[in-house]
Amino acid sequence: MNSEERLIWFKGEILPVTQAKVPVMSPMAQFGLNVFEGLRGYWDGQDIQIFRFHEHMNRLMESCRLVGITCPYSADDIAGFSRDVLSANKYRCDVALRTTVFVEGEGSWSSSEPVDMFIAPIAKQRNKLDEKTQNNACVSTWTRINDNTMPPRVKLGANYLNGRYAHLEAKRNGYDLPILLDCRGSVAEGAGACLFLRRGNHLITPDSNSSILESITRDTLITIARKMGIVVETRKVDRTELYVADELFFCGSAAEITPLTSIDKFPVGDGVPGTLTLKLHDAYLRAVDGREQGFNNWRMPVYNI
Ligand code: PMP
Repeated sequence: MNSEERLIWFKGEILPVTQAKVPVMSPMAQFGLNVFEGLRGYWDGQDIQIFRFHEHMNRLMESCRLVGITCPYSADDIAGFSRDVLSANKYRCDVALRTTVFVEGEGSWSSSEPVDMFIAPIAKQRNKLDEKTQNNACVSTWTRINDNTMPPRVKLGANYLNGRYAHLEAKRNGYDLPILLDCRGSVAEGAGACLFLRRGNHLITPDSNSSILESITRDTLITIARKMGIVVETRKVDRTELYVADELFFCGSAAEITPLTSIDKFPVGDGVPGTLTLKLHDAYLRAVDGREQGFNNWRMPVYNI
């Protein structure tokens, strides 16, 4: 299917993505006044399982609350619309879904209505990793937005411009991906993903007060790792800990698990994806498509309900 034929759910209708239009003067178009979720659905051989749908909806509703807009739909409504639009596209594969609540009309940045929503699915395979995967990261000179300026806890379209500066700088300087520090100098996260490091036997991730998005994948990996008997620390992380880490990886619904093999030209471990990283990646994929039975309440079936 080419992208022109892709169907999206837009303001109560299912229509080709090319026909979904918002006014150029809308706060969404002008100021990035939209809150959204990036979800994944994984094909288990018989059905698509949307991963941690309810946690994504909770975060979406929190984002709406914090930017002062009222989502016109409930989480149950959105579950139904998501199923409808996946069925309309006849997807029988791994997918990504972008669910976006936006302010349209012709108001300003302070307008709170009219509010509506789209749900845009796309076929997207899970990441394949092997020992040859390479990603060179840098610590950005840009600071991560913070709770008193642009709260990173809110998944707001406009927040992504902070990550954009960092990403463009990283690319200009020959790196693949940036890591941002928070306004106190502690490690925060990537431009669109959270971060884990391994030091010795401990898996460490910046705590939820380190200017991060409260990532659902981060929570998933903390749970999976603890179940595997690994000690997980959520705490402030110093920049230099990145340079002495044995393993380093990003995580997120889109990033899944993305190993970082160098940081500011220091090789991470042996300069190849670490064994714990690969093990967690495998455990993560087994949880999302149900091969690992322990996490059944994390999956929401699309077709067989
Ligand atoms: N941080 C940022 C800035 C992100 O955009 C994302 C992706 N949504 C994440 C972290 C990871 O969040 P999640 O695991 O909930 O997808």
